[in-house]
Amino acid sequence: MADDHGVTPQSEDFSAWYNELVAKAQLVDRGPAKGTMVIRPYGYRLWELLQGELDRRIKDTGHENAYFPLLIPESYLRREAQHVEGFSPELAVVTHAGGKELEEPLVVRPTSETVIGEMMARWISSHRDLPLLLNQWANVVRWELRPRMFLRTTEFLWQEGHTAHADAADAMRETMLALDLYTEVARDIAAIPVVAGEKTAGERFAGAVRTFTIEGMMRDGKALQAGTSHYMGTNFAAAFDIHYTSAAGRLELCHTTSWGMSTRMIGGVIMTHGDDKGLVLPPRLAPYQVVIVPIGRGEQGERTLAAARDLAARLTAAGVRAHVDDRAQLSPGFRFNDWELRGVPIRLELGPRDLESDTVVMARRLGEEGKQSLPLAAVPASMPGILAEFQEFLLRRATAFRDERTTPVGTWESFTAAVGSGWALALHCGKPSCEDDIKARAAATPRCVPLDGAAETGTCVRCGEPSAYGKRVVFGRSY
Ligand SMILES: [Zn+2]
Repeated sequence: MADDHGVTPQSEDFSAWYNELVAKAQLVDRGPAKGTMVIRPYGYRLWELLQGELDRRIKDTGHENAYFPLLIPESYLRREAQHVEGFSPELAVVTHAGGKELEEPLVVRPTSETVIGEMMARWISSHRDLPLLLNQWANVVRWELRPRMFLRTTEFLWQEGHTAHADAADAMRETMLALDLYTEVARDIAAIPVVAGEKTAGERFAGAVRTFTIEGMMRDGKALQAGTSHYMGTNFAAAFDIHYTSAAGRLELCHTTSWGMSTRMIGGVIMTHGDDKGLVLPPRLAPYQVVIVPIGRGEQGERTLAAARDLAARLTAAGVRAHVDDRAQLSPGFRFNDWELRGVPIRLELGPRDLESDTVVMARRLGEEGKQSLPLAAVPASMPGILAEFQEFLLRRATAFRDERTTPVGTWESFTAAVGSGWALALHCGKPSCEDDIKARAAATPRCVPLDGAAETGTCVRCGEPSAYGKRVVFGRSY
């Protein structure tokens, strides 16, 4: 590991690969308090780009951003029984402040249904106030005993949508709209071909009537839940008195939803596309889409550096995020390895001989093409197309990988084999006790009942009782 760009190969130890990579690629560092994460500028830029794409779609569909307090009275969480039961083990509670013990402890928000529910009750009185469509960008705290950067940290960043509606049909439309936004952002921006579906009862959000999810397959075959959308029915409305007067003058309970996507998605990007050389970033999320490495020493180096800066300016004008690596004290090989580790989609190498022939050498981070020499003048105009192709290539590659490792199974033997390297598509009886049995024996859980699954009935892959759901369920090991 002469230049410190090496990471443990994925095939040797996927988890070590991940942990080494997030640090060496300068995405994150460990925070001083256990389980906390410092997001470094390169990692934060990734998050900002994802956030920008999602925020635009949230606003375009009629939602407004607001901000609610970090500290929530503990009693609020108790008002919805299932909600408090689900979150209790993960809560951080403030008992002392201002030098004395508080009369009522304050919870550091693990999610904001309760405090937002309290405000909705104040703000909604008539059917004309509905639907109320809110979104919040915030940090939340869920105490984590086994932290993994981006995937499970005590504090993380996310958005949480919270909406109130006049009836179940409108709230369900909203629940599915949010799921569609997540599917689109995952597929079109992060190049993650997720499966959208409904969680089984045992995997439902605490307090929800129905929970929907998008699930991506990581390169070790495990599933990552990358976003969830919940229909709460009137559970939270009843707990927080969220009522409205209907057009007919009757007092009715609202139907509410909530939905969230978090910094966990960055972990999904790393594990969907990364390889033994490091990160592979989809162009639409890459802080630098193109890095230009000028080569040469002394007077030659000055000329290639000037040409690299000129090229970067022209790329920027063409809407490309370009960066010049002017670290002349480091060898070209070191710099190439560094940008491969950090996942930059396109590297342009500019040496004295390239300059003489008005060309530049292009290397893609992945693919069969190998290095190519391009006419320097044409690079800015062709780069958006090259980046779009690379983005599509990543999605195709991830889709092929997922499809190869997704197996319809009919026997328990084939089930356990399938979840050892990917996902099993199996008929299931829907009983929580049978899910528990499967989890205990195969370490696999139902990830979702896919929305687009074909109709099929038969018997449960584990217990042989009649299948529920009318279609196959995706089972897998998960993060
Ligand atoms: Zn069963």
